Amino acid sequence: MASSNTTSILLVEEGEIAARAVMAGLERFPDLRVTWAASLAECLHTLGEGGIDVVMLDAELPDRAGLPPIDAVLAASGSAPVILRTAGLSHRRGREVERRGGLDYLAKDCIDPAAIRRVVLQALERRTQAEDARLHAQVFEHVSEGITITDARGTIISVNPAFCRITGYSPEEVIGKNPRLLSSGRQNDEFYRQMWSTLLRTGSWSGEIWNRTKSGRIYPEWLSISAVGGHGAAASHYIGVFLDLSNMKRHEETISHLAHHDALTGLPNRLLLQDRVQHAIEIARRDGSQIGLMFLDLDRFKIVNDSLGHVVGDELLKVVAERLRQALRRSDTVARLGGDEFIVMLPGFRTTGELADVAEKIAATLDKPVTLAGHTLNVGASIGIATFPRDGQDFDTLMKNADTAMYRAKQTGRNTFCFYDSRMNEQALDRLKLEEALRRALERGEFELYYQPQIALQTGEVTGVEALIRWNHPERGVISPAVFIPVAEETNLIALIGLWVLEEVCRQLVGWRAAGLTDIRVAVNVSGRQFLSPTLADTIADLLCRHRLAPSQLEIELTESTVMAEPERAIDQLKRLRDIGIQVSVDDFGTGYSSLSYLKRLPLNTIKVDRSFVRDIHTQKDNAAIVSAILGLAEALDLAIVAEGVENEAEETHLRQAGPITVQGFLYAQPMPADRLMGWLATCRNAAAPGS
Ligand code: C2E
Ligand code: MG
Ligand code: MG
Repeated sequence: MASSNTTSILLVEEGEIAARAVMAGLERFPDLRVTWAASLAECLHTLGEGGIDVVMLDAELPDRAGLPPIDAVLAASGSAPVILRTAGLSHRRGREVERRGGLDYLAKDCIDPAAIRRVVLQALERRTQAEDARLHAQVFEHVSEGITITDARGTIISVNPAFCRITGYSPEEVIGKNPRLLSSGRQNDEFYRQMWSTLLRTGSWSGEIWNRTKSGRIYPEWLSISAVGGHGAAASHYIGVFLDLSNMKRHEETISHLAHHDALTGLPNRLLLQDRVQHAIEIARRDGSQIGLMFLDLDRFKIVNDSLGHVVGDELLKVVAERLRQALRRSDTVARLGGDEFIVMLPGFRTTGELADVAEKIAATLDKPVTLAGHTLNVGASIGIATFPRDGQDFDTLMKNADTAMYRAKQTGRNTFCFYDSRMNEQALDRLKLEEALRRALERGEFELYYQPQIALQTGEVTGVEALIRWNHPERGVISPAVFIPVAEETNLIALIGLWVLEEVCRQLVGWRAAGLTDIRVAVNVSGRQFLSPTLADTIADLLCRHRLAPSQLEIELTESTVMAEPERAIDQLKRLRDIGIQVSVDDFGTGYSSLSYLKRLPLNTIKVDRSFVRDIHTQKDNAAIVSAILGLAEALDLAIVAEGVENEAEETHLRQAGPITVQGFLYAQPMPADRLMGWLATCRNAAAPGS
């Protein structure tokens, strides 16, 4: 290739004299360099080496077969233009060549250097133009943007393949028409007036517009129109270039959906919730209405997730989301914050009674069992309610206060709701302190076990004791497990505390054995989470073995709700405990919702009737009826019965008539530290001794 400012010419000429004459003439021009080829073979060889910008070919030059050389040269010259030196344009061969087009001609006998140079430059110029035109055509053909070319009056004269692909029209169907035929009707006349006014004034317009394809699909496009040849009256053509935005819009919508919704349940997420609440607050400020914000936390989700895995956990969340959706009106918003926390926003409620009704309805739907992967799950939810304007002026405050109220609902017994009260903040702080102190309590040895005797009513014999944990808080004194066990369960400290209790009980049993007390059985309360831990049975077996204790010396107590939260898993776990040989009783019986079909299949030994049914059993007819029903059930299922919380003789007398029952309560003994129990047992045995 010649350097940028010299043009390299290949002169193909048989006659040496003619060739030399041309070359000598062109020497005057430093921008032209001539290479001479005397035969077609030489010409093709030189072209093969490259670097030639223009070929000047003798049209008469024969190849070996005597055919004109033109085809071979054209094929080899690539982008270099070919100038045909011919004896005359009327020449037969010349005409033939002419039909191919794109060639330049020079009289064969012309040796005028200036004329030759003019033709050379002209050929180069034409080649450049042709290349440009080819490139433009390529762009027109292959771009992904649709292109419409119209004349000055706006009649379509050309469209490209992308236009056809996007609009569904063939060129024949649109050429001669006005681009209005694509109009979707979404833009009004005013829109088009504005567009034309800009176009006429400035020569270009761009913007988003909605058009309609041949099949009727309405789609968004980004359209840029420019006037060709000046604007206003000077414009000769208009070129419209448009990009189909449908995909982009779809992506945009997907992204926006993802950013504003929870992927698992499809519910609005925190971001969208915040937006809606803020919007609702603005409206409420204007029209003086109220907004309710409910903070929901599932009661037993963590147990399900920890024990059955997150796949089942996820399914459960989807079911909950669906139930919430069903339970609410369209104008309400249900959002998921993540984990097992959901928010419900109810704009425009009138009375708190209305909110309470909704909360009750939600609690009821979420309390219905869910069957997933062969498990029947009881989740339930605790709901905290804060209202605008009473409990907060902005989103964050309302959320915080609804959360606080939710905690209170959780403490008061789960699957219930609670309205926010400004005193709760103090209490929330208190709880936080409690949590901190609880974390340190184990290491500091602040826990202690108390024991409360259980007595067979008919014989007066002490059948066992229940271990009840106490927390000796350095500042607050003795704290009841009813206060700190729920906190320990939520923070997962329960695993460590539960283990400590089991170890301490075993240690104590060894101690008592050394002191001569060999036949005592201790009942240990095991929390829901601890119960479902896959290692519980092994841990217990290991403890019994290490302390050389008989399994019959240990009993575990599970609350009814623990067992019924996941009956199928409970059955498995209970079987493993039974295989070890320890006893199991269901605590607080009557307060949960036992399913009889499960109860029959559970390997249990004892039912402990909740204290609420024992209280005033002699005067409360309902309680008496419930206890007698439970007794009947126990008899049918061959289970022993313990009545909890017997406080007075009237209750005892009533129970004694009911049947063979074991009792536990303040009437016999308060829970007491281990060292006091020995003394208590001694006096009790003396008292029960014959003749006393
Ligand atoms: P629970 O297992 O139902 O224990 C019986 C509760 O009733 C005990 O309360 C006991 O002190 C109390 N009680 C016994 N007799 C009477 C009576 O005549 N009248 C009245 N009013 N109450 C009586 P406590 O010790 O405060 O324990 C409360 C609950 O905390 C227990 O209920 C149990 O669910 C839980 N808990 C206690 N210790 C542990 C433990 O080591 N681990 C776990 N996970 N939970 C425990
Ligand atoms: Mg108990
Ligand atoms: Mg109980």
